[in-house]
Amino acid sequence: MAANNLESTNQPMIADVIGNFLAAPPAGTPPELLESFSLMLRNGGSGLPPHLFQEVVDQAPVAVSVTDRKANILYANHAFERLTGYDRREAVGKNESLLSNKTTPESVYQNLWQTISASAHWSGVLVNRRKDGSEYLAELDIAPVLDREGRVSHYLGMHRDITEVDRLQRENGYQKELFQSVLNAAPVVVALLDTQQRVILENQEYQRLKSDLGGEPFAVFRRALEEQAELSLSVACELGRPFRNQEVRLDQAGGAGPRWFSCSGAWVCGFNDAVSAYFSEDNQAQPCLLLLANEITARKREVERARLQHLRAVLAEQQLAEGMREALAAAVFQLQGPLNVIEAATRMLDSGGGDPASLRGMLSEILNSGRKTLETMQAVLPETVVEAQNSVNLNEILHEVIQLVTERLLVNGIVIDWRPEAVVPAVSGVGKQLRGLFKYLMDNAIRALEGSRSNAREIRILTCEEDGLVMVEIQDNGPGIPREEQIKVFEPFYSAWRHGEKGAGMGLALAREIANRHGGGLTVDPDFEDGCRVRVELPGRGSGL
Ligand code: FAD
Repeated sequence: MAANNLESTNQPMIADVIGNFLAAPPAGTPPELLESFSLMLRNGGSGLPPHLFQEVVDQAPVAVSVTDRKANILYANHAFERLTGYDRREAVGKNESLLSNKTTPESVYQNLWQTISASAHWSGVLVNRRKDGSEYLAELDIAPVLDREGRVSHYLGMHRDITEVDRLQRENGYQKELFQSVLNAAPVVVALLDTQQRVILENQEYQRLKSDLGGEPFAVFRRALEEQAELSLSVACELGRPFRNQEVRLDQAGGAGPRWFSCSGAWVCGFNDAVSAYFSEDNQAQPCLLLLANEITARKREVERARLQHLRAVLAEQQLAEGMREALAAAVFQLQGPLNVIEAATRMLDSGGGDPASLRGMLSEILNSGRKTLETMQAVLPETVVEAQNSVNLNEILHEVIQLVTERLLVNGIVIDWRPEAVVPAVSGVGKQLRGLFKYLMDNAIRALEGSRSNAREIRILTCEEDGLVMVEIQDNGPGIPREEQIKVFEPFYSAWRHGEKGAGMGLALAREIANRHGGGLTVDPDFEDGCRVRVELPGRGSGL
C-alpha cells in the first residue's frame, strides 16, 4: 500500500534511485534499508542492471539523499554535492537540517514531519543554505521508505534549486498584475483575443460592458464592425492590417438608448503555449488581436443635440425672414396708397385747384396710411433676446472665427499670423455676440485686403492680458482707415469702402456696441500706419473690472 503510494507519486525517479542505491550501496548502509528497497523494487523496478542504476542516480540532475528516520544523511549523490557545496563524505552522518537557512517557518517543518511520519509523501519548498552561506529555494520531495511491517525505516529526499524559476515566476506574476492594473485604469474597453478569437485578457471596462450587454462584447463588436464599417476581422487578420477609430452603434433593449463606440485594433504577436509548437520555428508568432473600444456615446449625443438645435435655429431664422419679407411686402403695398394720394394732391396744387378742406382730407389719409405702414413694420421687428452670460475663452472664439473664414483667406491668399497668449483669462459674456464681434472685424480685415494690391497680404491676430483686461488686436496690412474717417467709421450707416461693396455700414458700430455691452471697448489705433489695427479690450472674469 505504502509502496504503491510511492510509485504513484514519484515514479519512475524513485524506483531508479532505489534500484541504483541497491545495486551499489555506500559503505555502512544499514541492512534493513537494503531490505526495504528490495521490497519496493519488486513492485516497480525498472529492470536495468544494478551498475547502471548506480550511474544514473549518481549523475541524476536532481539532488538525491537517503536518511534514517531522524533525517540523518546516509547517502547523497553528485548533484547533492554540487547544489549544496557539501562533499558527500562530509554530509553523510549529518542531519538534513544542515541545509536549513533557519528562515523557513516552523509550521512548514511541522507539516513536513507530520506528513512523512504518517508514511505519506511530502512535497514543498524550503529556504536552504549552501556550505558557502549562500541561500537558495529548494523544491523538495520526501518519500518514506517502509520496512516489512510497513513502518517507516528511512526517507528518500530529492530536491532542486528553484530560486531562478521562482524569481521569474514572481516577476512574471508582478508584470501580469502591473499590466492588469494599467489595463484596468484605462477608461476604454480593452480585450486581447487569440487566433481562435477567444478572449485571453480583458480589463474591467470590458467586464462591465459584458454585464451590460449580457454577453461577450467582442462578438457584438465583430458583428457591428462587419455590418456598419464593412470591416471583416478575419480578412484584417489575414492581411495583418490594423484598424483605427471605426465607429459602431450598439442598440440595447429597454429604454437605455443606443451606445456608440470608436473601435481600434492592432495585431500583436502572442505566445503559443501549445506543447506541439515547441519545435516549430514560428512558435512565438501567433497573431492576437488587441481590441480597444472607446465609448463615445456622450459625444455623439452632444453632436446630435447640437445638430437638432442648429436645425431648429435655422428653421426659426427662416420663418423670421419669411415673416419679415411678407410684412415688408405688405408695407410696400400700403406705402403705395399715400404715395398715390400725395401724387394726386401735388397734381391738384399744380393745377391751382383744390380747396383747403380737400387738401386736409388728403393729408389725413396720408397720415393714416403712414401710421398703418409703421405699425405693420414695427410688428415684425424681431424682439431683442436676452441671452445668458457664460464664461468665454477668447482664444477659442477667435480660433473658431479663423476657421469660419478660412476659405476666404485661402481664396485671397491671405496669411494669418496667429499669436495667442497660451492662457488668457476667461471673459464673462455671450459667446454668440462675441463671435459676431470678431467675425465683423475679420470680415473687415479680409475686405480691406481683397482690394489691396500688396502681394504679402497678412492678418495678425494677437491676444494678451493687461491689468485684468483681455486684449485682442486684429491687424491687417491693407490700405487702412484715413485719420479723418477714424471717428466716422463708428457712426451707424457710415461706410468708408471705396469699391462699391454692399453693406449697410453697421459692422464697426455694432462691434463697438457689443464690446461696450460686455464692459469693454473697441478702438482703431490712430498711430498704426501700415494698415488697420483694431483693438478690443474686455474685462477678465475674475478681474473685478
Ligand atoms: P528540527 O529540530 O529538525 O525541528 C523542526 C520541526 O520538525 C519541529 O516541529 C519538530 O518537532 C519536527 N521534527 C523534527 N524531527 C522530527 C522527527 N524525527 N519526527 C517528527 N517530527 C520531527 N530541512 C531543510 O531545511 N532543508 C532540507 O533540504 C531538508 N531536507 C530533508 C530531507 C529529508 C529526507 C528529511 C527527512 C528531512 C529534511 N529536512 C530538510 C528537514 C530537517 O531534517 C529539519 O527538520 C529541518 O531542517 C528543521 O531543522 P531544525 O534544526 O531547525 O529543527
